[in-house]
Amino acid sequence: MPPVPGSGLAKGLAVTLRTMTKKTVTEQYPEVQPELPPRTRGVIGLFEENCTVCMLCARECPDWCIYIDSHKETVPAAAPGGRERSRNVLDRFAIDFSLCMYCGICIEVCPFDALFWSPEFEYAETDIHELTHERDKLRDWMWTVPAPPALDPGAEEPKELAAARKAADKLAAEQEPEPDTAPAPKPEGDE
Ligand code: SF4
Ligand code: SF4
Repeated sequence: MPPVPGSGLAKGLAVTLRTMTKKTVTEQYPEVQPELPPRTRGVIGLFEENCTVCMLCARECPDWCIYIDSHKETVPAAAPGGRERSRNVLDRFAIDFSLCMYCGICIEVCPFDALFWSPEFEYAETDIHELTHERDKLRDWMWTVPAPPALDPGAEEPKELAAARKAADKLAAEQEPEPDTAPAPKPEGDE
């Protein structure tokens, strides 16, 4: 059957009318901040106190965009007769976000919980070289990482918490003043 003349125009107008009456979905950013899920992959934060410079994240990163420098330091023996230890000290930790593809592999593989996703996303630059961010900036982004969800009621306490509590109790016990054991002075004339 041949098409009715003008039916295409009518269909087009119907689509236009339907669209005109629909609620707009245009984001008014930056006037209105978007409502992002709390675990959004915005940027990577570094909790450098946890980083042991094991280099696993840099080795596993598919884009080779994590740059780490470190040096070794000797830690004296904790007790007389003990052995000195050597440890890695972080000198540089940087991520080039112009190469990063936000796969999250570095965060997954870090054995020491030193890397986290932050929902922060406002770090656009006009110069691509400015997208390499150093440890201070990555450390600052840690403050925007949301707290972990609460444990289920009745869940076993994480072993890290138990160890931290034990260490804090031990420290508090060491810092407690010794009880006064000196004998009380004798009253005068009581010889
Ligand atoms: S998110 Fe992926 S690409 Fe980006 S730094 Fe981590 S491992 Fe590399
Ligand atoms: S994997 Fe974790 S601990 Fe190892 S170098 Fe990377 S951030 Fe540091």
